[in-house]
Amino acid sequence: MAWEYGKYQCGHEGRTQVYGKVSLRANKAEKHFENNLCSDCWKEKIKAESEEGQQGLPELEGSVKQVQWAKSIRAKHSGSEFVKECTSAAEIIDRRFDL
Ligand SMILES: [Zn+2]
Repeated sequence: MAWEYGKYQCGHEGRTQVYGKVSLRANKAEKHFENNLCSDCWKEKIKAESEEGQQGLPELEGSVKQVQWAKSIRAKHSGSEFVKECTSAAEIIDRRFDL
């Protein structure tokens, strides 16, 4: 196992841990950098995507943690009428298995 350094899709430099035969490591690392974003850009992307899923949906009531959790449930079940209308984060969390 070794660290390989390279440039991600987003243009940022980073490093990745590569396992396997020495002769294959460089190739594996190259693929990894080609196909991925650095961890900062990845987090930004996930955040933007989960916020996109909230468009047109009502504000949720609850603790910060509940609201975050409920939003991720909403993003997964965006087709559910209940999820589109419910404004209680706790209720969405309670019913997450019935959606
Ligand atoms: Zn980046």
